[in-house]
Amino acid sequence: MTQMTHRSNTRPVKVGNLTIGGSNELFIQSMTTTKTHDVEATVAQIKRLEEAGCQIVRVACPDERAARSIGAIKEQINIPLVVDIHFDYRLALIAIEQGADKIRINPGNIGKREKVEAVVKAAKEKGIPIRIGVNAGSLERHILEKYGYPTADGMVESALHHIKILEDLDFHDIIVSLKASDVQLAIEAYKKASMAFDYPLHLGITESGTQFAGSIKSAAGLGALLSMGLGNTMRVSLSADPVEEIKVCRELLKVFGLSSNSATLISCPTCGRIEIDLISIANEVEEYISTIKAPIKVAVLGCAVNGPGEAREADIGIAGARGEGLLFRHGKTVRKVPEATMVDELKKEIDIIAEEYFEK
Ligand code: SF4
Repeated sequence: MTQMTHRSNTRPVKVGNLTIGGSNELFIQSMTTTKTHDVEATVAQIKRLEEAGCQIVRVACPDERAARSIGAIKEQINIPLVVDIHFDYRLALIAIEQGADKIRINPGNIGKREKVEAVVKAAKEKGIPIRIGVNAGSLERHILEKYGYPTADGMVESALHHIKILEDLDFHDIIVSLKASDVQLAIEAYKKASMAFDYPLHLGITESGTQFAGSIKSAAGLGALLSMGLGNTMRVSLSADPVEEIKVCRELLKVFGLSSNSATLISCPTCGRIEIDLISIANEVEEYISTIKAPIKVAVLGCAVNGPGEAREADIGIAGARGEGLLFRHGKTVRKVPEATMVDELKKEIDIIAEEYFEK
């Protein structure tokens, strides 16, 4: 198997009402920052994430209170719920019983064989997958001793170690992540993993930082992986409101033509020819199209000199002209509109084009 076709050549794995892998699209994931046992706060945050375009959500499960809250959370949300467990197999069993759509636990860390078997049996009975989450910062001692420090080979070896435990129990609904905060290391690990097994890959660059720096670091690492054809789910990890993670994910998917349900803004960098307050208009239009679920392209350009022609691929756009705006479609001017109303006119046209898309 080559890396280039890994995304579409992965084993299909069901997570709630979604199927990850196979020929399916890449899904956007995030993780809540609320205390999971605070059901009201957790549900409220998940609803905001859903609204922003999150397709799968993960919650931390540090204790029994959290595990016993899963059912109540599930009842109130519409997207699959992944429960993140470290070591404690009893929490995994409770989360599965409560209706988790997937659990994230490393079978090699559970302990005695009977405990692993109990978790695998419960997951099988409910038909839910297990995500193996390899993290460069917490590789098993025997792997660190062998390689001396976290390496891509060591991370893949760790993944294979956990995979084997599940496969030996005839369990194959597996998803794997190989996260590292070192971008090069993560890229190398995912590349090697894609050649070592055909389970779907959940992409992430961990501990990537604040909203600004973390978005850039994530875009660099995840962008490299996406361009190689890797990844079935993806999370951007930021020290920020998780809704920001979704926004970055969506932009990244758009860049690589992997989003079929979001609009894209094209805006010029501005220069001395600028005729309108382009920066604030671009921000307003970006906000406006963020909820549009059609893959349309909208352009806002500072002037008409090179304007419409510079954005020929746009379905609709506006270019500033002295005291007015030129509305254009696919590089051709449709009509002139007064500067005071041009953004409203553009929004109306955007709505029409989005409707046309859904009527097609
Ligand atoms: Fe400059 Fe006009 Fe091009 Fe914007 S569209 S960068 S204002 S020439």
